[in-house]
Amino acid sequence: MQFPVRRLRRLRKSESMRRLMSETRVTRDDLVYPILVQEGLDGRRPVGPMDGFYRISVDLLEDELGEAHDLGIRAVMLSGIPEHKDEAGTSAYAKDGIVQQAVAKARRYRSDMAIMADVCLCQYTAMGHCGIYKNGTVDNDLSTPLLGKVAASLAEAGVDVVSPSAMMDGQVAAIRAALDQSGHQNVAIMAQTAKHMSALYSPFREAAHCAPLFKDRNEYQVPYTNPREVMAEVESDIEEGADIVMIKPAMMYLDLVYEARRRFTAPVAVYNVSGEYAMVHAAHSKGYIDGAEATLEILGCIKRAGADIIITYSAKEAARMLP
Ligand SMILES: [Zn+2]
Repeated sequence: MQFPVRRLRRLRKSESMRRLMSETRVTRDDLVYPILVQEGLDGRRPVGPMDGFYRISVDLLEDELGEAHDLGIRAVMLSGIPEHKDEAGTSAYAKDGIVQQAVAKARRYRSDMAIMADVCLCQYTAMGHCGIYKNGTVDNDLSTPLLGKVAASLAEAGVDVVSPSAMMDGQVAAIRAALDQSGHQNVAIMAQTAKHMSALYSPFREAAHCAPLFKDRNEYQVPYTNPREVMAEVESDIEEGADIVMIKPAMMYLDLVYEARRRFTAPVAVYNVSGEYAMVHAAHSKGYIDGAEATLEILGCIKRAGADIIITYSAKEAARMLP
């Protein structure tokens, strides 16, 4: 017998053959585009080193949604920068809070898009922590009812999906209860289940003015060393009523995406965060890599690992390139 009999290159010999053989593919339906709205802002401003991504005033929301929609994107994730911060994070659940206003407008403009919103307190508290800071720590059980309140207020404004990112124990249960008690049984929860303590959030964090004033988030975010702990987080979020679970960041965490997809039936979302986006764009601008190709590769690999939903600042860029 002549070697090799099995020639795997046969199936790669032309573009049409390669397309036919493609085992996984990213489509526009997989993508969620994050939008950052800032209270009191006029127009749009860059977000640190995130080339091509801007924080916007609420009046620009219609254009932003229209552009995403024209590109075939059908889901957005809203988060906000308020003018007012205080100890209790009250602007996070104010009826006229920045994200509540944005959700209501988005709902009005686009009934054909899934409107999601981040649920946390860090942008809204003076301390910049994801929960209420008391006696030298972030008080878990003082924070969860407030997260419930934030979720209910966003539901009132018309959101489809709330996405808690505070990493408080019991936050999903508190939010589910708050939603159900306020008549929002059909608002889904996409829990940011495994939000890791990561160096990759800094571009967004600086733009959103939500870096903690002191101490870091080690007491509540998951360390990148602990895959079993991540599975325990997934298990407990599903028990508490999460409809969708999330692994965050994306690129260096794909083993966890794979494992969560294998072990659980809930849809798995991935957040391809600001630092990941900034790294690709910085390398592109230096001429080290082709940013467009790298973006498609990253999204394709996230999909291959098993992600059902990809939240990414590259959504519009990818939508322009996808077949
Ligand atoms: Zn937070």
